[in-house]
Amino acid sequence: MRLFIRAVAVIGLLVKEAPFVPIEERTLGMPVQNMRLSDARDTFNEARPGERRHEATDIVAPRGTPVLAVEDGTIVKLFLSKPGGNTIYEFDLSQHYCYYYAHLDRYAANLKEACV
Ligand SMILES: [Zn+2]
Repeated sequence: MRLFIRAVAVIGLLVKEAPFVPIEERTLGMPVQNMRLSDARDTFNEARPGERRHEATDIVAPRGTPVLAVEDGTIVKLFLSKPGGNTIYEFDLSQHYCYYYAHLDRYAANLKEACV
């Protein structure tokens, strides 16, 4: 089952690298509008075929639901993987963290690598 149909990166226009702030001190946005973290079932570390573990939490949303960046950053890679499907790798502005968006049905038309 595809989780998301559309990826829309809502990211800032600032290109400057930001100072480092530990992840525990950040307020990240929900990647799906009108959802709360408590709406998501915790799928982190669930068993997957073979020895693999699921190293993420899937947030299930109806097709057509835009996916939002959790904070400003740079899109560094758009990648099609077997377990993750269409994926996006976004570095935060301090380039210390990478946010991973997976199971996307498709990308927004204007989304491309090196996009801020
Ligand atoms: Zn998943």
